Amino acid sequence: MALFGTSGIRGVFGREVTGELALAVGRAVVRAVDDRVVVARDTRASGLALENAFVAGVLEAGGEVLRAGIAPTPALALASKRRGCAGAMMTASHNPPEYNGIKLFERGNELSARGERRVERAMGKARVTAGGVDERLEGVVEEHIALALAGVDVGTISERAPKVVVDSANGAASVATPYALRRAGCKVVGLNCDVSGDFARGLEPNETNLQRTGAFVRACGADFGIAHDGDGDRCVILDERGKMLGLDVQLALMAGKALEKRKGVIVTTVEASLAVREAVEERGGRLIITPVGSRGVAEAMRRSAAVFGGEPCGEYIFPGELTVPDGIATALHFAEMFAEAGKLSELASQIKVYPMRRAKIPCSNKERAMAVIRREASRLGGRQSTIDGVRVDFEEGWMLIRPSGTEPVIRITCEHHSEKGLRELWAKAQAIVKRAVR
Ligand code: MG
Repeated sequence: MALFGTSGIRGVFGREVTGELALAVGRAVVRAVDDRVVVARDTRASGLALENAFVAGVLEAGGEVLRAGIAPTPALALASKRRGCAGAMMTASHNPPEYNGIKLFERGNELSARGERRVERAMGKARVTAGGVDERLEGVVEEHIALALAGVDVGTISERAPKVVVDSANGAASVATPYALRRAGCKVVGLNCDVSGDFARGLEPNETNLQRTGAFVRACGADFGIAHDGDGDRCVILDERGKMLGLDVQLALMAGKALEKRKGVIVTTVEASLAVREAVEERGGRLIITPVGSRGVAEAMRRSAAVFGGEPCGEYIFPGELTVPDGIATALHFAEMFAEAGKLSELASQIKVYPMRRAKIPCSNKERAMAVIRREASRLGGRQSTIDGVRVDFEEGWMLIRPSGTEPVIRITCEHHSEKGLRELWAKAQAIVKRAVR
């Protein structure tokens, strides 16, 4: 049974992700991961029901639950690490409000593929003993904020005291980012920072969903704005004009900043643009490319002792104690960048970007479609890589066609030095995918 996608268990609550499923996963975690589990949730309306069902499963199997309440995913991961036990986050990240899911951790790391297989095998087999322990765990968010603050120069930020709009999408970061930035000396204007579970905007921090956020940044004369997804591991930056820096640009900027502090390895995924590659090479860094997904990025970072790892969606991992994407630390690092180097729009304008296009195409049978796509793409020539989907690199551009790990869609990404080249590449990629999903 394939229970796990690229980001744990995720689906529409009550349909794919039910209380019964959460109960069974709770039991299985005790058997397959650890009998102590820290549990947290984002702010979705279904969160408490899902958490209670999962907790019931852990207790039935005789396990011990530490409930952290509403907390960002990185805070939950840190709690799991520091207590040397399992972690379970009830979240569907950036997916729409009707979705929910369970993301599992083992001693602070995202549960490995092997761990996921262990959980799948233990489903339905767990012994029911009853007699577990259900306790509250206080201070999880505070612990995480303290760690994130230790990673930046608070003195420099405080001196500059930037005015920052924080849009947490009324998600889990509402309980963390405004406080973390204030503690660093920022003047914070909160937007969508309550935890009622009424989402005022789409949870994915993209251009469409951040129109109002951008207007808000301009209206209050902020130095920049930051926007999170539902569980606070993702962070997107808007400049003082309320414009998104661009996912590739902000990734290139953060990779460059990391390399200026310390030379070394930068890890990113097959989705990363030429801007990131060039930013890393210009500063004498070495780039390692992994399949999409923060787990692969974290593993590559561990192996290579990397100075920074990030995905183009806005999920960044900083070296140190925490080995998962951290939207709160990301917000602080951009505050530090602003304090040290000035206007983010000006820094962004120094990053050379090439014409790029991304799209998703609905697809109900991704496996079958990808088989067709791999066959067709192999006829295109170029350098072919299949570490994740199909990536074909040409002299001046590249295309990536891969199945989404969280949605029933095939994603296409193309980038080229010229607009004309991009149009040609795009037409080829689209033709291949359309034929495959027909
Ligand atoms: Mg997320």
